[in-house]
Formats: sequence, structure tokens, C-alpha cells
Amino acid sequence: MSLILYLTGVINIIVAIIYGIYKGSIGEFIITVFVCTVITFLLFGIGNIIDNQDTIINYLIHIKEDNINDVVKKCSRCNKKYEAIRKSCPYCGYVD
Ligand SMILES: [Zn+2]
Repeated sequence: MSLILYLTGVINIIVAIIYGIYKGSIGEFIITVFVCTVITFLLFGIGNIIDNQDTIINYLIHIKEDNINDVVKKCSRCNKKYEAIRKSCPYCGYVD
């Protein structure tokens, strides 16, 4: 997702330079390139935010998985999962 934003930003700058040269006027060239550079920086910023959110979401998913492993126990006899606070397996009665 963020790769599309980065690519769009780069294409945006290239198009701005070509369009600016095509226009022929130095003033319009500078304005076009400046405006498109600002837009590109915004796109890069949004791309960075999305990358950071992906990192945070992955981190939170790992924390959740770790917590689930703490509260869930696997029975050695029937291999079913149950709450770690139980003294015996609710499915087969095996005492761990
Ligand atoms: Zn069991």
C-alpha cells in the first residue's frame, strides 16, 4: 500500500518536471515543480504513517498471541487446549 504512494510521489515529480519544461516559462516551471514536490512529500508522509501502523499492529498481534499462550494450556493426553487455571483437563480429566 505505501509502495504505491511512494511510486505515485516519484511519478508525480517526474511529470511535474516534464510538464514544467513543456510550459517553457521558468516561473511556471518552478511553481509546478514546487507544488508537485509538496504533494510528493505529503504522499511520502502518508506512506510512512501506514508503515508505522503496520509495525504497531504486528507488534500488538504478537503481544496478544503471547498472552493467549500464558492463559491457555494444552492437555498432554488428548492435545485439546483449556484454561491454564484448571487443575485437570475438562475433556478427558487428565491431571497435569
Ligand atoms: Zn485432555
